[in-house]
Amino acid sequence: MSHDGLNIEAIRAQFPLLHQEVNGAPLVYLDSAATTQKPQCVIDAVTEYYTGYNSNVHRGAHSLADKATIAFEGARQKVSAFINSPKPEQVLWTRGTTEAINLVAHSWGNHNIAAGDIILVSELEHHANIVPWQILAEQKGAKVVPIPLTEQGDIDQNAFTALLTSDVKLLALSHVSNALGSVNPVKQMVAAAKAKGITTLLDGAQAVAHFKVDVQALGCDFYVFSGHKLFAPTGVGVLWGKEALLNSMPPYQGGGEMIDTVSFEGTTFNGLPFKFEAGTPHIEGVIGLGAAIDFLNSLDNEAVAQHEADLMDYIIKKAANFDGLKRIGEAKYQVGAFSFLLEGTHPSDVGMLLDQQGIAVRTGHHCAQPLMSRFNIPGTVRASLSIYNTRDDIDRLFAGLEKAKLFLL
Ligand code: PLP
Repeated sequence: MSHDGLNIEAIRAQFPLLHQEVNGAPLVYLDSAATTQKPQCVIDAVTEYYTGYNSNVHRGAHSLADKATIAFEGARQKVSAFINSPKPEQVLWTRGTTEAINLVAHSWGNHNIAAGDIILVSELEHHANIVPWQILAEQKGAKVVPIPLTEQGDIDQNAFTALLTSDVKLLALSHVSNALGSVNPVKQMVAAAKAKGITTLLDGAQAVAHFKVDVQALGCDFYVFSGHKLFAPTGVGVLWGKEALLNSMPPYQGGGEMIDTVSFEGTTFNGLPFKFEAGTPHIEGVIGLGAAIDFLNSLDNEAVAQHEADLMDYIIKKAANFDGLKRIGEAKYQVGAFSFLLEGTHPSDVGMLLDQQGIAVRTGHHCAQPLMSRFNIPGTVRASLSIYNTRDDIDRLFAGLEKAKLFLL
């Protein structure tokens, strides 16, 4: 049992990868913000698809194809319920968060962004929520403007209010920062933007695995996330959008599945969600994502949130008492990621020495170079937490850091 009543051993038992030695020591996996490990039920769902009913979806006239289609569309319904979408048709499959944002930039952006317009982001965005907008802005003569952060790593709300001018056409924000773990007050920021008629996109890549996301309560126009950060396979993700908005948008890619009729005189397009799903999809990934949602639904949400909050408190307290450790980002609400530096050392050296002790963390700029510039640092060491981590993992991290210090200083 963990300190908060969650049966953590039973949860860990479902993740086969965690039970191994790396470099001669039991693995401590503190890199779930990069990608989460997969529970056995997800691995089984993928294996069952390939060993039992591998077929293409939607078009088949045989039983296996029917079974694959039922599993595939069933996963859409599960995701839809998971994020409280009004309809499953509003859940579009993509390759991940990155492709979902690019889809919006191409399809919505090309038709709605014009010269002089502003796309408002924040200084803590992942490159995936900066670069597609920069490409679009360059094509259109528009501008990407960052909302500054406070010293703590929160989005400066006064600056946000001042930047919310009539030129802003899109607000695109991370729900949770991948580098700092800051939980942004996106609901109130979306409401402020919507009051001015601004379209809103939330990048939920680091949010969905940590707390309940309700797209209707958030009030955003688009919500995007990746399956692999949610215990599902890589290569599958979700673009959720408001129905009228998605209906008004042109297709992103052309090909099979997204059409209604095709002739050389012209093509008519399929309805939602297929209009945006050209070609054979990542069937195994979608089925795996459905299994990941089943897995999450089998857990007590409250207990999981409590467990993760306990781990974050524990790491923060231990860090405060660790000589020479400088915490980067002290947002009011923090989940998942904890970033730091060890005085007099380089993050990559620390990461390498931890790895030698079987402790997996991430080092570097975490695909958030503007954020690193904001704090005048080249990068950080990031320990990121998930439901399968324990206080023991954090104790091992700090024991590992002591050893790294002995070696490096
Ligand atoms: N946005 C955030 C906040 C992320 O943390 C990540 C991945 O780390 C991404 C976007 C990109 O996700 P993906 O590489 O799965 O498309």
